[in-house]
Amino acid sequence: TVTIGVLALQGDVREHVHVLSSLGARAVPVRRETELAAVDALVIPGGESTTIDKLLRAFELVEPIQERLRAGMPAYGSCAGMILLADRVLGGIEGQQTLGGVDVTVRRNAFGRQVDSFETDLVIDGVEDSATDPVHAVFIRAPWVEEVGPAATAIGRVEVGPAAGRIVAVRQGPLLVTSFHPEVTGDTRVHRLFVKIVRESV
Ligand code: GLN
Repeated sequence: TVTIGVLALQGDVREHVHVLSSLGARAVPVRRETELAAVDALVIPGGESTTIDKLLRAFELVEPIQERLRAGMPAYGSCAGMILLADRVLGGIEGQQTLGGVDVTVRRNAFGRQVDSFETDLVIDGVEDSATDPVHAVFIRAPWVEEVGPAATAIGRVEVGPAAGRIVAVRQGPLLVTSFHPEVTGDTRVHRLFVKIVRESV
């Protein structure tokens, strides 16, 4: 079985651990370098990207994670995790850094403030049956992807409403990022796609 770490500095760690465990993966929290070394893949949860960025630096995890990413470790970033895995960020706070890895430019808090958080149904390439049974996506002060560079591929877009056309899911090899929070809906298909990516990579 595969071991998937969930970065446990801040954010909705438990929900990801729960979903991954329900899919038969061994899911473990990661807070230090020795724990990172023991996982096959890493999930970076939603939360607050500026806080996670600061904690990553305080826990001296930036370089170890970047090294694993360069070596091909699969990673999945949801919401704040998407921001942290993006090569470029707009609307960040002064000095905010990302781990990078995915050739995209993301815009923080793109959909509006907390009250403007919204839900919509998405078709996502690679997510089983989503063309006929769309993924119900929950966005909470979410980023969107403003630009996708040549190394990455958009796999999901908002279809209706004022944000129609906005890219909210991207894949780049073993890296997956989504603007939304599949761990809160009970629909496990996005995590299943990630577990499949991890199984194929070990
Ligand atoms: N707005 C948060 C950020 O910029 C992300 C919110 C979330 O992860 N739900 O990091």
